Amino acid sequence: MNKMLSSAIRRLAAAGVPDPAWDAWELLEWAGGPDRSHLPLWDGSLSEDILQRFEEGLSQREQRIPLQQITGRTWFMGLPFQVTDQVLCPRPDTEILVERGIALMKDKPQPLILDLCCGSGCIGISLAHYLPKARLVLSDISPEALELAGNNAALNKVLGQVSFARGDMLEARLEKRDKALRELDFDLICCNPPYIPAREIDALMPEVRDHEPRIALDGGKDGLDFYRILAADLGGGRPMAAPTMLLEIGCEQGAEVTEIFRAAGYRNILVYQDLAGLDRVVEISL
Ligand code: GLN
Repeated sequence: MNKMLSSAIRRLAAAGVPDPAWDAWELLEWAGGPDRSHLPLWDGSLSEDILQRFEEGLSQREQRIPLQQITGRTWFMGLPFQVTDQVLCPRPDTEILVERGIALMKDKPQPLILDLCCGSGCIGISLAHYLPKARLVLSDISPEALELAGNNAALNKVLGQVSFARGDMLEARLEKRDKALRELDFDLICCNPPYIPAREIDALMPEVRDHEPRIALDGGKDGLDFYRILAADLGGGRPMAAPTMLLEIGCEQGAEVTEIFRAAGYRNILVYQDLAGLDRVVEISL
């Protein structure tokens, strides 16, 4: 293997990067070097510019800045997404939530779907892409996230199907949830809320702990605050005006989240596993 590449891989490995070879290749390609399929034919030469950019990327990755934040991009459901340090990187674990949403909505003439805590917009935008008749509302507390979600909607050419609403779920519990949102009759609410118990955040890998936004992770003392808010809404008579909710959960939260919704009066609660076989999504309906 090319000497420069093997030394880059060694550096990333020494910094504790979990998949150093993959990341070194990705950074080389991002810097303008050869992509993986051309590596066997590559003579090892790189222009000064590319070398310098590769070096910058490597030293950021050594500091455990997430690869997707360095390159500014990732893929989710086969679609491109821009990523910044203001949102969680879209994770493959979340794809089963989207797949389930597509299955539930595909035969409806014009489904209206809410993506709460949308972050980069990866859930709502991929639903819009795969359900061309659907209309989506994407909501988040963070203006930076909403701006990025707007860019991602444009990148994926779904701006015509998508609108945006800034809102704070926690605040809405105290006052009344955003009236405009409340009056829409959603067919489906999707939400990947923050669900890490506050005291566990410090034990997460440095990429997440130090570089992803804490408000996208911190689910309160036991990580379940946002599920309680979603469930409590039934107390007002309407479960956020949607017959079905698809919520991402932490892999150890299936039983507790099921109990929260059961106690609030929901009868149909299903837990789905992600591709690693871990509990990852709950589907809730009355
Ligand atoms: N799955 C993410 C993680 O483990 C957390 C996502 C979330 O809190 N919604 O880093």
